[in-house]
Amino acid sequence: MRIDVLTLFPEMFDGVFSSSILGKARDKGIVSLNTVNFREYSNNKHNTVDDYPYGGGGGMVLKPEPIFAAVEALPKHQEAEEVPTQPRVILMCPQGKPFSQKIAEELSSEEHLVFICGHYEGYDERIRQYLVTDELSIGDYVLTGGELPAMVVIDSVVRLLPGVLGNEMSAVTDSFSTGLLEYPHYTRPAKFREWEVPEMLLSGHHENVKRWRRKESILRTLERRPDLLEGRELTKEEKVWIME
Ligand code: SAM
Repeated sequence: MRIDVLTLFPEMFDGVFSSSILGKARDKGIVSLNTVNFREYSNNKHNTVDDYPYGGGGGMVLKPEPIFAAVEALPKHQEAEEVPTQPRVILMCPQGKPFSQKIAEELSSEEHLVFICGHYEGYDERIRQYLVTDELSIGDYVLTGGELPAMVVIDSVVRLLPGVLGNEMSAVTDSFSTGLLEYPHYTRPAKFREWEVPEMLLSGHHENVKRWRRKESILRTLERRPDLLEGRELTKEEKVWIME
């Protein structure tokens, strides 16, 4: 997968793209992570990328020319002898579709993603209308820029790419991947202060442990995020656990 991020602050991505799991995925060649400072595509001598809003009002608006030019200059992803694929061009904005694990899974099957990070009051509406394919929000609050939101989305997409997570960390049982919140985890020691690990986990009985985890997962979801259970087909056993 190739990921390009259009930003006025490329240095913000340095540590994130070169550390931990993202850094390893990049080193293994599973993902190519690139930043583009769209100020370099400004078409005026002062290198400005924003201007006053038509109609007045506070704040500055990102101009369309540098952002269109930066996207259009990106190399197109192309498998041997294939027609280049069109990238998904994702605008980070609080007005976008709420980001979710489901969207992360969908994006992880793309070959080329482009993220546009905004600043100031917002973007010229023509960027939204004629350039982007998706608008994503990471929550109902407003940040100063799109860099942190883009990092959130990129991190959650890259960890789903085959070969990125080792066997010791599987995305399959993660919260939301299963449609539920994940079950509780414990590690050694079996007794810490006066608190003991649930006996079931020490039993070595794989089927019972699996069942215990499914039950804990259902109960935790019921307690914390009952909305996730709406419309879910529950087994007889799961219904009993919920009624207990
Ligand atoms: N005036 C805009 C509005 O009310 O929708 C908010 C602009 S915000 C100060 C500047 C930039 O930060 C946005 O263009 C976007 O790129 C990013 N941003 C802020 N909050 C975000 C969120 N919750 N999700 C995604 N991007 C966000």
